Amino acid sequence: MELSVSDLKALFVHLDSELKAGCDHTLSKTLDFLGDRKFEPATVIPWLKEHGGYCDCEVLVNVESDYECILRS
Ligand SMILES: [Zn+2]
Repeated sequence: MELSVSDLKALFVHLDSELKAGCDHTLSKTLDFLGDRKFEPATVIPWLKEHGGYCDCEVLVNVESDYECILRS
């Protein structure tokens, strides 16, 4: 995993509150989060896309469901 479990949880919380206004079908809110925390988007974004996260709402839905499997395994 490119992000730790606690970082990933923080990302989901961030997206959950940011997406109340709706998704603009980009990864802008994810990128804001990564930038604030000094993560390297070039390594994290491909990983998110691998898990179906092609925009902010998809990160929340698809990556979060994959992530629940990761936690259970
Ligand atoms: Zn979206």
